[in-house]
Amino acid sequence: VKSRRAQPLERLVDADPCWVGAGGEGITNSITGEPVPHRRGVALMFDCPIHEDCHVCVYVDPPLDGGKAIEPFAGGEGRGRSWARTGGESFDGVTLSPSIRVLGGPDGCEWHGFIRAGRFETCGDSR
Ligand SMILES: [Zn+2]
Repeated sequence: VKSRRAQPLERLVDADPCWVGAGGEGITNSITGEPVPHRRGVALMFDCPIHEDCHVCVYVDPPLDGGKAIEPFAGGEGRGRSWARTGGESFDGVTLSPSIRVLGGPDGCEWHGFIRAGRFETCGDSR
């Protein structure tokens, strides 16, 4: 079971956030062998607002480079989706919608909450 933080994080900037890229030099498609073009800011990673040593990563639409959102694991339950992003590149202004619900399994993270204008709003059903 993940250990809970004494106090939930309230701001994204306090959660060691980073924009995650994809592809780029030396990266090839494992099936076609074609080079995969570099993409900037396709996902947002941050420390879980309620657990220690727990990380959350969500794909954003649009990515920072303005291209098409990446949907990596289409078909899984709740996976292969991305979250609508507004507010620009700055971590203190980003808003994602709808809410994020982490489905970590029986002993895993089940944080559920919003990121609005760079602030976490943790819902009461988080575990
Ligand atoms: Zn967590």
